[in-house]
Amino acid sequence: MKTITNNNYQIIFDNSLESLKAIIAKKPYSKIFILTDEVTGSVCLPVFQAKLPDFDTFDIIEVPNGEENKTIDFCIGIWRMLLDFEADRSALLINLGGGVVTDMGSFAASTFKRGIDFLQIPTTLLSQVDASVGGKTGIDMDNVKNVIGTFAQPQAVIIATDFLKTLDQRQIVSGFAEVIKHGIIADSAFFNEIIAIEKPEEITEDQIYHSIEIKNKVVIADPFEKGIRKTLNYGHTIGHAIESWSLRNNKKPLLHGEAIAIGMICEAYLAKELLGLPESDLEIIAQAFLKYFDKYDIKTGIEHDLLEIMQNDKKNVAGKINFSLPDKIGNCQFDVFADEQLIKDSLNFYRDLES
Ligand code: NAD
Repeated sequence: MKTITNNNYQIIFDNSLESLKAIIAKKPYSKIFILTDEVTGSVCLPVFQAKLPDFDTFDIIEVPNGEENKTIDFCIGIWRMLLDFEADRSALLINLGGGVVTDMGSFAASTFKRGIDFLQIPTTLLSQVDASVGGKTGIDMDNVKNVIGTFAQPQAVIIATDFLKTLDQRQIVSGFAEVIKHGIIADSAFFNEIIAIEKPEEITEDQIYHSIEIKNKVVIADPFEKGIRKTLNYGHTIGHAIESWSLRNNKKPLLHGEAIAIGMICEAYLAKELLGLPESDLEIIAQAFLKYFDKYDIKTGIEHDLLEIMQNDKKNVAGKINFSLPDKIGNCQFDVFADEQLIKDSLNFYRDLES
């Protein structure tokens, strides 16, 4: 079984889910809960139960699916269910789902009775390569992404790539954005390998493994995001603003990875202006994302709204909007500041790209 070691836990590649038994046996858990959303409850939970038929005594907690539900209201729902089922501090919560479930479930677990154990079984590409690794938990508030959260480490992360078989195409492509990001910030050879893939669903388990290795190495070096971990935020300053705007204003909002892909193109433009990212790298980055992602209409006139959201970004220092930007494909700098005009220029750069 392939594993990746974090200081605090193992990331285990295990389609059989057998490894769960040994993890659970390590402690005398008083009760075990599984958190799903409506979709993973109907699609992934039966797979989970079929693979582990002995585990029929778990209590199930279900939340509605979708980013708009990663809120305190549904978190209260989880806490309430834990109370109703008489969970004590020796309870374990297994988060079975995408990034919404792993983020909100780990937040709920890390705060319930000052913290109970939790385990991540991510079921989307995005949550496997990114959200479930690194110990960031969180919920959104007033459509501001991840504004409430904690750092808390799971007992383990189990990666079962078989779950991806039921994931729809749009979700796979969304997760692919973070895989490309890992290449841009840390590994140019991996970037080239990834963007040679014709269809994101053709990503291999080895490529998923390497993508997680890149993230894991960074979070081990800097678990609380004081320095190098900030490089993982490449694309996320503008990307989160666009995602938040889209959540508020679009009937069919952008997915996380779709918004981050736009953010990475805009921020590559900033990187060219501020760090001398070669023009050719900017072009390669922009074309790489446009190969997989449809062009999004960033409406004229919303710049002010987007900048206002960016002003609230957790990464800002002394009111200055903070970016992590590549100086070449394969290397990323952090704590780079851009003024409002340059940010507007970067949105225009995106708007002017041929789709
Ligand atoms: P998601 O959790 O909303 O999942 C996407 C959709 O796919 C949902 O409708 C879900 O029900 C469905 N789904 C999940 N697994 C499935 C499966 N196997 N088959 C069919 N459908 C399935 O979204 P996501 O893209 O997984 O995660 C996005 C979230 O992750 C965002 O909230 C983002 O902020 C967060 N995130 C967190 C971190 C972190 O470090 N904590 C990093 C990156 C992203």
